[in-house]
Amino acid sequence: MSTLPTYDDVVRAAQTLAGVAHRTPVLRSATADARTGAQIFFKCENFQRMGAFKFRGGYNAIARLTPAQRDAGVVTFSSGNHAQAIALAARLLGVRATIIMPHDAPVAKRAATEGYGGHVVTYDRYTDDREAVARRIQAETGATLIPPYDHADVIAGQGTAAKELFEEVGSLDALVVCLGGGGLLAGSALAASALSPACAVYGVEPEAGNDGQQSLRKGEIVRIPTPKSLADGAVTTHLGQLTFPLIRQHVKDIVTVTDDQLVETMKFFAERMKMVVEPTGCLSTAAVLHQALAMPGKRVGVIISGGNVDLGNYARLLAG
Ligand SMILES: *Cc1c(COP(=O)(O)O)cnc(C)c1O
Repeated sequence: MSTLPTYDDVVRAAQTLAGVAHRTPVLRSATADARTGAQIFFKCENFQRMGAFKFRGGYNAIARLTPAQRDAGVVTFSSGNHAQAIALAARLLGVRATIIMPHDAPVAKRAATEGYGGHVVTYDRYTDDREAVARRIQAETGATLIPPYDHADVIAGQGTAAKELFEEVGSLDALVVCLGGGGLLAGSALAASALSPACAVYGVEPEAGNDGQQSLRKGEIVRIPTPKSLADGAVTTHLGQLTFPLIRQHVKDIVTVTDDQLVETMKFFAERMKMVVEPTGCLSTAAVLHQALAMPGKRVGVIISGGNVDLGNYARLLAG
């Protein structure tokens, strides 16, 4: 098993990403501050390349491969932001990327992944095992599998967003981060523990998929059936072998929010901050605005994880 990443790995990832990833803006909102009584610093990864923080981890992981590994290409399974991140990062590094997607993945997601240069292979989600498909491609091509969260270089890359936030605004009382498999949360916690040791780090999950909360409370990885939530980037079934110990060590608590709260937060971002944020990207802010995490008088960092949303769905949710 690979060893846990450390803050030094986050620093190395930041060097790798310098001049490649966007240094995303940190925005403020007088309305958000007034509603919560806190000083909120929004780190806007919805403005990252390909629209989400996942570019950071994907690029860092591919950049660390040996020349021989790069020649053999990379493979991953995802229909979401990780697929686009791997496709774009691989193209920038001159590496062939094979992305395994369910045959019924949204057309727009497939098109976006192919638009970034990814080679899409489909499988039938009812009859095929996607991991078996990945193993077959690995066996045929020697490609390296880059998983979406449970990988030291992916976690270290994701941690660079919080590192930038602390460097820009100084120490914080709290940092609020959404989680699916926990790569972003684990990496953010590494940055917080090094740069703002007194900062309390919180995770936020959809109420329907609170496996992370259950795992943290039980002290072991709890697996749940695939949850149903608008937050499609956070409907993972379990934390990872690497992300869980880091979260256990550094994260104070994991709280949940409802789909209705996500929609209200999407409207808040559109109306007040003029930003398109996908439902998963609304998790952290929803917890702060709806008092799942009430922190009056505190300096609070909130990571907005992404902004990729189907415009038809987006319009429907905003109008509803
Ligand atoms: C993948 C993703 C998440 C969850 O990230 P993990 O590292 O799996 O916890 C959250 N938000 C967005 C927009 C994502 O793409």
